[in-house]
Amino acid sequence: MAENILKVENGTFSYEENRFAIHNVNMEINAGEKIAVIGNNGAGKSTFFLALNGVIKLDSGDIYFHNEKLEYRRNSLLELRKKVGIVFQNPDEQMIASTVEGEISFGLYNVGYQKETVRKKVDEIMERLELKEYSTRPPHYLSGGEKKRVSIADIMVMEPEIILFDEPTASLDCKNIQLFKKQVNELHEKGVTLLISTHDMNFVWEWADRVIVFSNGTIIADDKAENIFSKEDIVEQAALQKPILFDFGIKSISI
Ligand code: ADP
Repeated sequence: MAENILKVENGTFSYEENRFAIHNVNMEINAGEKIAVIGNNGAGKSTFFLALNGVIKLDSGDIYFHNEKLEYRRNSLLELRKKVGIVFQNPDEQMIASTVEGEISFGLYNVGYQKETVRKKVDEIMERLELKEYSTRPPHYLSGGEKKRVSIADIMVMEPEIILFDEPTASLDCKNIQLFKKQVNELHEKGVTLLISTHDMNFVWEWADRVIVFSNGTIIADDKAENIFSKEDIVEQAALQKPILFDFGIKSISI
């Protein structure tokens, strides 16, 4: 059986009194899984991600990383955030440095890597994400797709065990979507566990081996894509659009 690396038990969180953003969420994430997280706007997907890497502290319930309960102390939070990376929906929320190279280096210096190692790791990641030509440019003046690649590089360079992508393809053009798919496939082959929240049901169908459906702050289904899209009550409750290839029973078309 696959190793359980991250677990939420009865996770509940509210931003405002009397309004749950997530409520009694239970979920175990196993090493190497490819999980799609879906559901309407406001269903709780981003909050769930923020809880998973300790950016927000649950009001009640617990997070376990490698079976160890998160105590929300500075050191254990830093350790968790090193191992569980989030790529935010809006890259601007993530960027702080004045050049692309500086931006991607920041996290590595922060955890104490020496200059030589940082250079090597940053060079390698810029090559993989086709960012070399932008290395001295200010990240804030790049296009949406380029910014997204920098924000992904920011996280990938830290070599986390799990990466949470919050609606990564929302503002990307076709070329950048293809590049993104290539990157996640490579990450999966390297053994990184992946959770991707998205409204792109065709991507979910083709890519995910497990689908979590959120509705009103709770998980209403956790299953293979085949089973999720076959359940009319789930499709209706979460207002899901069925993938184009679902009725054909095939995952992709090679041309
Ligand atoms: P999703 O990612 O599925 O769109 P969110 O986790 O962003 O859902 O939102 C869950 C609920 O929490 C929604 O009702 C949303 O309005 C609320 N919410 C999200 N962020 C905030 C915030 N910073 N302050 C107050 N309410 C918030």
